[in-house]
Amino acid sequence: MNCPYCSFADTKVLDSRPDSEGRSIRRRRECLKCSRRWRTLERVEELNTLVIKRNLTYAPFDRAKLLHSLQVACGKRPVPPSAFEKVVADIEWKLIEEGRDTVSSAEIGAYIMKALRELDEIAYVRYASVYRRFRDVGELMAEMNSLLRDGETPSNP
Ligand SMILES: [Zn+2]
Repeated sequence: MNCPYCSFADTKVLDSRPDSEGRSIRRRRECLKCSRRWRTLERVEELNTLVIKRNLTYAPFDRAKLLHSLQVACGKRPVPPSAFEKVVADIEWKLIEEGRDTVSSAEIGAYIMKALRELDEIAYVRYASVYRRFRDVGELMAEMNSLLRDGETPSNP
């Protein structure tokens, strides 16, 4: 974009910050000629990424459904609701930034598990027990053990 002060065509982006819902981004720009700075606000009209489900059917990205699954996993846990918004916004932002047409539900699940593991370990195990569909308590214990081993990430399903 051109500098609003001197119309010079080359500008430098100083920083970029998505909003909490991942639907807009604020940028700070600097003109490479006159060095004046200004801010821009770019809005994303819609996230058009399709989700490929386990049964290989497609569904629109459903932020309400993701928020609900996070609320369920974090029920009665000390996780503020704003944290759910941020997890979902981060996923949306990632998809927008990568220009993704499709994303698998497994990839979204893995992303949520990673985020929950940092937020609250009980919520993480709850979510994992639904998402990973542990067949028995042995599998659950294996996951718990991996959680107890500090610094390691859980194996992929
Ligand atoms: Zn300028």
